Amino acid sequence: MADQKRRLVIAIDGPVGAGKSTAARRLADALGYVHVDSGAMYRAMGWKVAQAGVDLRDRRRVAALAAETEIRVEPGPESPHTLVDGVDVTALLRTPAMDEASSVVSVYPEVRDRLLDIQRGMAKEGGIVMDGRDIGTVVFPDADLKFYLDAALTVRARRRLHEVQQSGTAAGLEAVQAEVARRDARDRGRETSPLAAAPDAIRIDSTALDAEGVLGRMLAEVRRFLKPDNS
Ligand code: C5P
Repeated sequence: MADQKRRLVIAIDGPVGAGKSTAARRLADALGYVHVDSGAMYRAMGWKVAQAGVDLRDRRRVAALAAETEIRVEPGPESPHTLVDGVDVTALLRTPAMDEASSVVSVYPEVRDRLLDIQRGMAKEGGIVMDGRDIGTVVFPDADLKFYLDAALTVRARRRLHEVQQSGTAAGLEAVQAEVARRDARDRGRETSPLAAAPDAIRIDSTALDAEGVLGRMLAEVRRFLKPDNS
């Protein structure tokens, strides 16, 4: 019989703009779990590389930098904070420059290995919802529940445009859509831990669903998983 009080490890993967982070945050809130946005950790690594003046394309130097960088995610009053070598960089990570920097550095296996250890260390006690690109496939292949969230490219691009505009940056839909498609292609095409749905992931298409709708679907799956006869 499944233990109703068991604190699960839940993985959410998907491409840019599918609604992963919002879903992960709301699901974690609803369950009283910790939410970890693994994308913020890649952004933090991209920030460190930019800060050090290292060329993003210089794999050797990026790898050396990753090896000596401490990245931590800590709970904050509203949302988690990301620290690089003890400095809170949360407010600096959601910029177009960091979109690109994180996308480039995340291709390097040395960067991924470094973050993998940190990510796995955070799930030892369970009670965690982590979102990203390789959480159900590589980080937690034995996760209790895996979701793969996707939506039509045009819808994802419109969501991304809204985010970009809210951060005060002027942008057009066409350029944003091209950028989203480029980042997705890089994530899907890389050799190490490419973006993919785990075979046992529950797929949710958020094209016609709002955040509430996605949360409802996920909570229904969690309830189903925790049902006493799910042993
Ligand atoms: O999710 P977010 O857009 O913040 O992630 C930033 C970048 O980090 C992504 O474009 C992706 O290339 C990379 N990433 C990754 N693996 C993860 C999470 C993010 O490669 N688990």
